Amino acid sequence: MSLTVSLADRINALEESATLGMTKKARELAALGHKVISLSVGEPDFKTPKYICDAAKKAIDDGFHGYSPVAGYPDLRKAIADKLKRDNNVEWNPENIVVSTGAKHTLANVIATLVNPGEEVLIFAPYWVSYSEMVKLAEGTSVIVEGAFDNNFKVTPEQFEAAITPKTKLVMFASPNNPTGSVYTEAELRAIGAIVAKHPNVFIMADEIYEYINFTEEGHFSIGSIPEIKNQVITVNGVAKGHAMTGWRIGFMAAAKWIAEGVEKLQGQVTSGTNSIAQKAAVVAFNGPLDEAYKMKEAYDRRRKLVVGLLREITGFKVNMPDGAFYAFPDISYYFGKSDGTTLIKDSDDFSMWLLEGSFVATVAGSSFGAPNCIRISTAAADEQLVEACERIKNAVATLK
Ligand code: PMP
Ligand code: GLU
Repeated sequence: MSLTVSLADRINALEESATLGMTKKARELAALGHKVISLSVGEPDFKTPKYICDAAKKAIDDGFHGYSPVAGYPDLRKAIADKLKRDNNVEWNPENIVVSTGAKHTLANVIATLVNPGEEVLIFAPYWVSYSEMVKLAEGTSVIVEGAFDNNFKVTPEQFEAAITPKTKLVMFASPNNPTGSVYTEAELRAIGAIVAKHPNVFIMADEIYEYINFTEEGHFSIGSIPEIKNQVITVNGVAKGHAMTGWRIGFMAAAKWIAEGVEKLQGQVTSGTNSIAQKAAVVAFNGPLDEAYKMKEAYDRRRKLVVGLLREITGFKVNMPDGAFYAFPDISYYFGKSDGTTLIKDSDDFSMWLLEGSFVATVAGSSFGAPNCIRISTAAADEQLVEACERIKNAVATLK
């Protein structure tokens, strides 16, 4: 008898995460003995600072072994409220904050909480891979607004305003950005804020996960600090990038109480409060000091200059200098239609796979980020690895005719 059941339509329609998919493939090739340089996943290559690890050990010894409150321990929500005031000029009380299992979970929670089927979510492209898929899961409609290469891949306020329709519910973007590393200036964010102020039913999800990895003189500006739109902004952040804590899985959102309550209700039915030990470690991370975060930032700063310098030497590569995060995002479309005699490179997916299988350098194709002419290269790796990877890429593309 043939099987007539299948996965739910929502899962069949979902794309696999390209960042995690390429990383899995890189691991498989490494397990076969190949010398793979994995620049696919965006993850600090640093260890979590010791004072944060010590807090986790203490939490175990102190007996924090049970369920935590769904929205997070009170001291953690207080530490986040203090951090938002200290770093971001964003003022919310602890009850406006919900802690979740990573910023990824937070983003999915907020989308599921706010977006009705058919409502539009404006996504500034290039965007992080999971945004559009999360909207799909919520049965919302993604409307992609593309930032131009010549504007550092940033969407202009005019483009944003033109994309708003009566169905627009949410707009989402990350600054500093993954995959481009671009940073929206205070002036640009104020201009975007002024447009949102004219549309009281439109909300902004400000993904600030790369806040501490910002190389601009101006530094980070939080759109949630603009008083006129305070109730329309959902500020999302976490510990993964700035504190090198990707595996601890702590993220949060801060927003108007009705939104926070909605997210808490959802979380109460689906995951409960996140890991108790990680929460106690996060209290220490959010309370500072930030010396370790600044040291890591210096390393990322050095590496972006190193990698962009090397990539710009490669024929046909067009590369912006990222202002934040830890990615280089070259336009490699010069090579589309070219072949090494065996493999024809039609698009960025072909290019990225060809690079992995032939030169053992793992990157991620720009197509999954809404930028099909580019590939993403993580610069969160040792300098020697980055130099070696750029060398391999240069040698590989020299064979394409
Ligand atoms: N937003 C962006 C832009 C990211 O790059 C990532 C990847 N870490 C996340 C959110 C999710 O972060 P977390 O590891 O806290 O889930
Ligand atoms: N945010 C990282 C990246 O873009 C981690 C992987 C993921 O969760 O997608 O590579």
